[in-house]
Amino acid sequence: MAIPRFEARSYDFMPYVDALNWIGGQWVPSVTGRTQPLENPRHAEIMGHVTISGAADVDAAVQAAKKAQPAWAELPMRERAQVLYRVKALMERDFEELSWLVCHENGKVISQAQASVAKAIECIENGCALPNMADGGGLEVSRGVECRVIYEPVGVVAGITPFNFPLMVPNWMLPQALVGGNAFILKPSEKVPQSVLRFAELLQEAGLPDGVFNIVNGAKDAVEAICDHPDIGALAFVGSTKVAKLVYARASAAGKVVKCLGGAKNFLIVAPDADLQLTSENMAASFTGCSGQRCMAAAVMVAVGDSQHLIDGVVAESAKLRPGIDHGCIIDADAVKRITAYIDEAEAKGAKVLLDGRGKRGDHQGHWLGATVLDHVTNDMRAAHEEIFGPVLCIMRVNTLDEAIALQNASPYGNGAAVYTQSGKVAEYCVRRLTSGMVGVNIGVPVPREPFGFGGWKDSKFGVGDVSGWDGFRFWTRPRKVTTKWAVQKDWTWMS
Ligand code: NAD
Repeated sequence: MAIPRFEARSYDFMPYVDALNWIGGQWVPSVTGRTQPLENPRHAEIMGHVTISGAADVDAAVQAAKKAQPAWAELPMRERAQVLYRVKALMERDFEELSWLVCHENGKVISQAQASVAKAIECIENGCALPNMADGGGLEVSRGVECRVIYEPVGVVAGITPFNFPLMVPNWMLPQALVGGNAFILKPSEKVPQSVLRFAELLQEAGLPDGVFNIVNGAKDAVEAICDHPDIGALAFVGSTKVAKLVYARASAAGKVVKCLGGAKNFLIVAPDADLQLTSENMAASFTGCSGQRCMAAAVMVAVGDSQHLIDGVVAESAKLRPGIDHGCIIDADAVKRITAYIDEAEAKGAKVLLDGRGKRGDHQGHWLGATVLDHVTNDMRAAHEEIFGPVLCIMRVNTLDEAIALQNASPYGNGAAVYTQSGKVAEYCVRRLTSGMVGVNIGVPVPREPFGFGGWKDSKFGVGDVSGWDGFRFWTRPRKVTTKWAVQKDWTWMS
């Protein structure tokens, strides 16, 4: 039975359905019978409940996936991709509904929720294009002997995703996995499981056979059961570094192919010659967008040399941003407490609070923090090197570019980094030395757009390759190398 449409078209509170599991094309409660409340973070009101699954639920999803996968894999890749063309059209048709759902479950402002749904659609488009990239290639490697590659599915695969992009991050994985011929099990964040419910039904409407896409809701128990299940061949994870490490170790030990994206601490270097307006607006948008709850948000502004005017510009731009209008709220009360503790501690150790978001609120009774800028942050403060994941910008002042680069290089994280300058030479000097998988030049959120893959370095990623783009397709498939000879050679030997 289909779930109802989500009718909200404003920030006014609206409850929605309980998030059950989607197994074999049907909504089912978990075997555990456990649920937990789902809070709309803007209102701090309960929108519904989420099923908290255990190992038996994961197994039920695996059995449904195993049943559906062989017939799905039998289809030519181009036919599998047709489902993505159709779901793209359906996502465009339901763009407003999906965006408002993301907005309500996650607390983003509507413009940022819309951007995240648009990006999910872009990921689907990349999936549509995959058959044109996956021809495999072939070569006559010896007289009359030809080698070619066929990308075969892994079989049953799984993805585990975080709270900050409820619909977009699952779509970093799904298009490649489906076009690759796999059946997929998604374990969304237990904080934001509702927009993927609608998405599951859109996939069904687009003609995806039942059982090829399944959702198992839940938390730690479900994740551990996915890591351990012998019939899941590949697993991608996106979330904090702490959990990424646990999942990587556990799922690898169980023999899976695993790729885990972790947390971040992004250093944005500002050279004194940087464009004032561009840098100010860009930096402010980078650390406050999604209320700083994104792995590509600016965390540290490294101000090089005489750049007081740029610091002033960033503070002035940030002061204009209003919670609830220009950026959304914080996911829950615990997160507000955690972020506030970082600010309090830095202040107590001597950081100067240039802009104080503590106690600033948006329009409803939920979980809020305003943009906060801390100056003279030093390495003895946790705010300098730990991931805060909130709308907080730490300013660290250095004299040279090399000192700025050294600060970033010392971070255990390597997700995003950027440099602001008008000099190509300075930009290239930094780009080549920053130990980060994604680097921006005069761009505060250097997210590679499709078809470029998304993925960091160091403790921001465990496993090989990026999660999206072509690397994603390679991750969810196994290359079969076929060597063929039909003609009998004149110089035939036992090795021929
Ligand atoms: P999280 O690590 O708490 O949760 C991610 C997933 O892991 C969820 O599905 C959750 O249910 C599960 N989980 C949580 N604790 C677990 C445990 N102890 N054992 C097993 N599973 C567990 O992350 P979050 O708070 O949802 O998301 C924020 C984090 O995700 C930040 O660190 C952010 O940087 C990171 N993130 C990284 C990227 C990236 O591309 N590198 C993208 C988005 C978010």
